[in-house]
Amino acid sequence: MPASDAIPPIALPFVSEKAKKTLDLVEKFVAQECIPSDTVFHAQLGEGEQRWKGHPSIIDDLKERAKKLGLWNMFVPRNHFKEGAGFSNLEYGLMAEYLGKSRVASEATNCSAPDTGNMEVLAKYGSSAQKQKWLTPLLNGEIRSAFLMTEPDVASSDATNIQLTMRRDGDEWVMNGSKWWSSGVGDHRCKVYIVMGKSSPHEKNPYRQQSVVLVPADAKGITIHRMLQVYGYDDAPHGHGHISFKDVRVKDSDAMVLGEGRGFEIIQGRLGPGRIHHAMRTIGAAELALEWLIARINDERKKTFGQALSSHGVLLEWIARSRLEIDAARLVVLNAAIKIDGANAKAALKEIAEAKVLVPSMALAVIDRAVQAYGGMGVCQDTPLANMWAQIRTLRIADGPDEVHLQQMAKRENNDRRDEVIKRLEWQRAEADRILERMGVKKLKSHL
Ligand SMILES: Cc1cc2nc3c(=O)[nH]c(=O)nc-3n(C[C@H](O)[C@H](O)[C@H](O)COP(=O)(O)OP(=O)(O)OC[C@H]3O[C@@H](n4cnc5c(N)ncnc54)[C@H](O)[C@@H]3O)c2cc1C
Repeated sequence: MPASDAIPPIALPFVSEKAKKTLDLVEKFVAQECIPSDTVFHAQLGEGEQRWKGHPSIIDDLKERAKKLGLWNMFVPRNHFKEGAGFSNLEYGLMAEYLGKSRVASEATNCSAPDTGNMEVLAKYGSSAQKQKWLTPLLNGEIRSAFLMTEPDVASSDATNIQLTMRRDGDEWVMNGSKWWSSGVGDHRCKVYIVMGKSSPHEKNPYRQQSVVLVPADAKGITIHRMLQVYGYDDAPHGHGHISFKDVRVKDSDAMVLGEGRGFEIIQGRLGPGRIHHAMRTIGAAELALEWLIARINDERKKTFGQALSSHGVLLEWIARSRLEIDAARLVVLNAAIKIDGANAKAALKEIAEAKVLVPSMALAVIDRAVQAYGGMGVCQDTPLANMWAQIRTLRIADGPDEVHLQQMAKRENNDRRDEVIKRLEWQRAEADRILERMGVKKLKSHL
């Protein structure tokens, strides 16, 4: 069945014919070219230090192929930017699901994080000189980028804690401090860091003390001390760096994005659509895990107690549960995309948070069932499941931990609704009393 025939009916009216055709192409490209290339990617990456020395050439081959097929920069939303392939967030969401099934597909189509969010920052807030210098090569897939906010010495989920200092010296900014979890800095193609620091500590409003600047990766004074691992995976050649800045200098006119003290505005603008891109890809990863689960329980070679695993009811139930959890989560993601398309990311804060929190937990449950069905094989490198689990587990922390999103959601729901809810419930109770009195019926003693 072509991918366009599987679009949920609720989303169908919002999907153009052009997007349906591209979706079918994406599905085919991922299934026939990218997933087989995942194995080649890992083989070319090799082992040990070699993993950081370059990047697998299969990526360049796939990029050429994707460009020829017109599968390039589909993530850039058409109603907000002129750059890009002209799709809505919803249309890209449907495509991203397929990209999420492969290690290489997002990069092959120039739709991989953190470049996607970084390109949105540059497109939205960059000056024309900044766009020319950094956005154009990023959109062309010639360079890569990193976003440096999180720091080792402070609780960075509260960005007001960020400490890296940015001191003005004439027309330059001088930076000192440390960053970690700087994803992408291991890649030799990563040429620009988008850095958040404290430029205006005396500003009364704590949300106006930070600025975002663009720093060339080869700027003097930057040291990458080590690469962090995710549950033992190094994520080469991309990697997650622990970096220090010692008297790093950039020119104000080249580097400052949007203006001094506007860092918060930028990080909030950056993460809206980016969060659902992760969610969309994660739906695809969950689908892939379900496929692996189905393959295992029907494996004729591996019977237990004389029966294929598919005849054990409990494992069949895992398939049903996975199917319904994936389908439900997909609707939450598509709903967020439709809401962003209808207005913007700010109007869809609730829906984005719902997708950001719900989808990784759903996918982890599905992957865990598949791991269990494979027994020992499920936790080793012979299936993609263990690596997928590690990657997706980090999404409950990266781009803001679940707890922060849940707290914000809860506050909004509670603040917006409590007065109206309490008033309505009180009125309904009083109305019931009035009806009882009018009818001459006595209230039950056990009732309020
Ligand atoms: C794989 C990976 C990639 C990443 N990539 C990047 C990147 O490219 N750039 C970048 O800047 N950062 C990146 N990060 C960092 C990530 O964004 C931070 O780890 C995250 O924001 C949490 O910050 P922290 O680690 O300082 O944890 P802390 O802020 O110390 O929080 C620790 C825990 O405290 C709890 N907590 C926090 N606030 C609340 C609250 N309000 N209510 C209840 N509990 C709360 C949560 O359980 C949270 O997990 C990445 C992280 C990972 C794991």
